[in-house]
Formats: sequence, C-alpha cells, structure tokens
Amino acid sequence: MAGIYIHIPFCRQACHYCDFHFSTNLSTQNEMVKAIVKEIEDRKDYLNEEVNTIYLGGGTPSLLTSDQVVHLLNTVFANYDVCSHAEITLEANPEDLSLNKSKELAEAGINRLSIGVQTFDESKLAWMNRAHDANDSFGAFEKARQAGFKNISLDLIYAIPDHSRERWESDLKAITDLQPDHISFYGLTIEEQTVFGRWEQQNRLVQVPEDEAAKQYLFAIEYLEDRGYQQYEVSNFGKDGFHSRHNHGYWSGIWYLGVGPGAHSFDGESRRFNVRNNPNYIKAIKEGLPFYETELLSRIQRINEQILTQLRTVKGLNLSMLQKDMDVDFQELHADFIDEISHQELIEIADGFLRLKSKGFLVADEIAVRLFFSE
Ligand code: SF4
Repeated sequence: MAGIYIHIPFCRQACHYCDFHFSTNLSTQNEMVKAIVKEIEDRKDYLNEEVNTIYLGGGTPSLLTSDQVVHLLNTVFANYDVCSHAEITLEANPEDLSLNKSKELAEAGINRLSIGVQTFDESKLAWMNRAHDANDSFGAFEKARQAGFKNISLDLIYAIPDHSRERWESDLKAITDLQPDHISFYGLTIEEQTVFGRWEQQNRLVQVPEDEAAKQYLFAIEYLEDRGYQQYEVSNFGKDGFHSRHNHGYWSGIWYLGVGPGAHSFDGESRRFNVRNNPNYIKAIKEGLPFYETELLSRIQRINEQILTQLRTVKGLNLSMLQKDMDVDFQELHADFIDEISHQELIEIADGFLRLKSKGFLVADEIAVRLFFSE
C-alpha cells in the first residue's frame, strides 16, 4: 500500500503562526496546477504499489476550483493504481465551503474533509489572522454534511495565549457538539520566521507556560475520550472506523509520493524534498530541470524514524520488531532510562510494545531521541 500527498501552496492570507510553505499570490494558481499535473505524470513509476490514500494538503487546497481538483485527481487515477476504496482527503478552510463547492468536491471524488476550525473565539481568530469567523466554521461543517460527507475531521489549536481553560473547554464542547468523525488538536507553537515569532522577540506575545499547556492537553484527551473519540496518536482522535488511513501510512513507514513545492516523498530508502518556492518549482518542472534534493537514509536512520513515529501512536513501539531488525534486547539496552520513565508514569510496557501514557505524549519526541540508535 502507498500514499500520495499533493501540496497546494496558496493561502488567502498568512496566519500569524504559520511557517508552512505557501504564497498569498494566487495569480499562478493555474500554472501551478499544470506543473503539479506534470510532476504526477512524470513520476508515475515512483510507486509500484497500490495507492490506498490521497491527501490534498497545504496551504489551502480548498482555494482550488472544483475543475482543478478533478484535473489533479483524474491525473492520479490515470497514472497510478488507486484502490477502489481509497481515502481521499482535502484540507479546507471554513470560508471556502459553500454548499455548491462541497457538493462539487464530493462529486470530484473527495471522500474526507479536514476543516481548519482552530477556535470558535472570534477575537482569537482575528488575532491569529485567520480568514474566517466562528459562523463560517459552523456553516462549513453543516454544508459539508448536507453535501454528503460522512468523514469529516476538524482541527483545533490549544495553548493560545490569554485563552483561559474555560475557553478551551468551550471550544472542545462546541466541536464535539457538532459530532465530527475525527478531531485533531495542536498546541500553538511560535516559530521564529512568523509574525508571532517577531511579536515574541518584541515582547508583544508571551507563550502559555508549559504546565498550563500540559493541563489543557491532558484535559482534552479525557474530554474527547469521554465523548467517544479514541486517541490513536499524540494529536489525533477518531470515532471507531475513522482513524486517518493517510496518517497511519506515514507512521507505518509505507512508501509515499509527495508532489508540489515543498512536498516530501519516501521510497523505503531515500527521502526526496521538492523545492519550497513556487516560481522556481513551476520553472523547473516546465524546463525539465532538477527541483528536488534527495537524502539517502541509512538503516539506522530508518529505524530511528520508526522509533519516533511509532512512539507517537497509541499502539506504541514494537519491541519485537526492533529485536529482529537490530538483533538487540532493546529493554536491556535502555534498562535505566526505561525504568526512570516508567516510574514517572510516562510509559508502560505491555504485549511486546512500549507505549506512552497520556503524560508521556507531552514529551514523546524527547523520549524518542533518548531511545535512538547511534550510527
Ligand atoms: S491557512 Fe493554513 S497553511 Fe495557510 S497560512 Fe493559515 S495555517 Fe498556514
């Protein structure tokens, strides 16, 4: 099984916290779609397995016209062996989802929407420079359901400065009242190259203290699980049968093709990184010039990536797989550290898996790094 990721590098306006690759100059959207279509065709031999998931992410894929979505998907269908029950997700911003647009997306073959709600607090939406208000979010969800979408994910942000715990609880209540099939939530991180990064340097923004962020995170896990959403990864929760297959693919190390500027690909041995610049990407694709860099991963790097990604899942780190791959008793190798984090109630070991507990998810990456093999 393999996955395809299509990066749509345009946004209506720049959210103050975002450091993804996008441009607010929409004038090259048509040219960009043509370039991505060409990349999909040119790389048709990259995957020789059946494609199980297609994900249009960004940026803001819902800025595409329905015809452009159809064109992209038809190119994928014509060039890859896509399974008949593929999960096909499109990330959408609430302001883009009219009833008509939702119906057209469903007709185009999109069967899962991931809608960026972030918060229902109007003043925080404006502060973050989001292009929508809370009513747009309610309206988008309702229209997507009316258009027939049976698999909808909503995104929230926690640890927003000056956002009280009560406010966070009211966001969680509003989102669960809608009964989406899947919920993702992320702590607000302040990246240097963003407006918020500048504000922080100028002392105009103070991040939520770590212990408060942790309380909001742990509160949300309990809140969502009480309402029937199973946590399956650090930030992801789904109702039964609605865990994201695309995410699972990344975590289980399957091959994936990433097209568009800034997209990554993985073929089991190397990672390929497309240039993060719209005009350069379009020019290179048109003229047949290189538009990516490749990094060959060593066996140890690949195993360390598995440790990092598996640990972030509720299933946990498969210890017998490590024993087989590395011919080493992993528990014995890290006996002191494992003992220490067990006592801190960050992990548990059961049925051959090392699993993070809720508190452990807060420091998942730090724990993974301590468990890495060295070259
Ligand atoms: S809409 Fe999404 S990708 Fe675009 S700037 Fe905002 S957070 Fe970033």
